[in-house]
Amino acid sequence: MWDDGLGPAFPSLTTDVRADTCVVGLGATGLCAVLEARALGHTVVGIDATVTAGGAAGANGGILRAGLSKFHHEAVAAFGPTRAAELYRRTAAEIDRIATETPDAVRRTGSLRVATDDAEWADCLAQLAAMRAGGIAVEERNTPSGRGIFVPHDAVVQPLLRGRSLARMASERGVQLFEHTPALRFSAGNVTTPGGRISCDAIVIAVDGGLEEVVPSLAGRVRTTRLQMLATEPAADVTIPCPVSANYGFDYFQQPTDGRIALGGGRNRSFDTEWGAAAEPSDGIQAYLDGVLRDRIRTKAAVTHRWGARVAYTTDGLPVLEQVAPNVWATGAYNGTGNLMGALCGRAAAQLALGRQSEFHALLHPAVSASSAQVSAKSASSQ
Ligand SMILES: Cc1cc2nc3c(=O)[nH]c(=O)nc-3n(C[C@H](O)[C@H](O)[C@H](O)COP(=O)(O)OP(=O)(O)OC[C@H]3O[C@@H](n4cnc5c(N)ncnc54)[C@H](O)[C@@H]3O)c2cc1C
Repeated sequence: MWDDGLGPAFPSLTTDVRADTCVVGLGATGLCAVLEARALGHTVVGIDATVTAGGAAGANGGILRAGLSKFHHEAVAAFGPTRAAELYRRTAAEIDRIATETPDAVRRTGSLRVATDDAEWADCLAQLAAMRAGGIAVEERNTPSGRGIFVPHDAVVQPLLRGRSLARMASERGVQLFEHTPALRFSAGNVTTPGGRISCDAIVIAVDGGLEEVVPSLAGRVRTTRLQMLATEPAADVTIPCPVSANYGFDYFQQPTDGRIALGGGRNRSFDTEWGAAAEPSDGIQAYLDGVLRDRIRTKAAVTHRWGARVAYTTDGLPVLEQVAPNVWATGAYNGTGNLMGALCGRAAAQLALGRQSEFHALLHPAVSASSAQVSAKSASSQ
């Protein structure tokens, strides 16, 4: 759906190399980490097991919805109003940053959450009240897609175009990128790949789906699942001006300017078949999506593409952003909404791996951040 066939191609690694920082995983998150480490003056090598933006980063619904994976009223209940509002503000600002960084890939459309029944409408109103209490602009709307709430600041992105633009930027800034180069093992100062070893001072692991396979110590807290989508030919019989989510966010769709429809969802119909599943479409979920396409979106446009990709979830709904070995930081598990959170975490992971403080890390994981600051202060005073 998103592939215009114009992606840059990078070689695979065939010799040993040395860089200050190595980034493992070149989705949008890893590429943000690459660019941040480079901007901080480091030499950087980035590697991907497949191709740049070859995972969820290049195959997602393209919705830039500010906030956490939880709706704002749920985030307020879980994390308190101040922290939830600040996390919201950071992700909203990230939309502006992404629109400036890769303008060709972004459209400022706003986003809509519609209710499928009265109970969900009550939940929409609770979300609306919490957003207004936090000073966030939001409106009630009656639309052809249903009764819902509209957030004017949100946007859509062409995710593969964005990933490839970031890769080009990184390459132009002197970063060495290698595709078809899986990290087989990593330890402080070394990443082993089939074609050569990367010696480095710092490592950032930026993998969403499959994070617990790359970092097995995260297996108890991180779990990978599959998300599925389909796309249609240009649909002349409907106009969808902004991305829509329904069914408590489990279903989502948008219509890019060429008129096609990108529709994803259905995971809550069949959680068990999706946990741990391979990145490919399945008959059951695709049949459900066909139903949403015909009954809710009400288009007759033919389906042209069907796909699945992997993402990871955590038990507390917050992403992983943590040190997993000396000088090795891992980020991922964005709970299905990593376009904004991944960019923020990718830059934060690069800062942390380079020994800097990260305000965003402190906001996301205050207890962990405070205890590592104490350790740094103690070791500084004992030196
Ligand atoms: C169908 C679907 C729809 C979605 N819709 C939205 C949406 O509308 N809005 C939103 O915000 N989010 C959405 N998401 C979630 C979002 O796509 C992801 O959270 C985000 O793209 C993750 O990007 P990433 O760069 O962190 O990870 P990934 O895209 O997973 O990239 C990680 C990269 O690491 C590589 N890799 C893995 N293991 C290794 C290894 N051992 N060595 C080297 N490389 C390795 C992979 O090949 C991959 O390219 C959706 C996800 C899916 C699957």
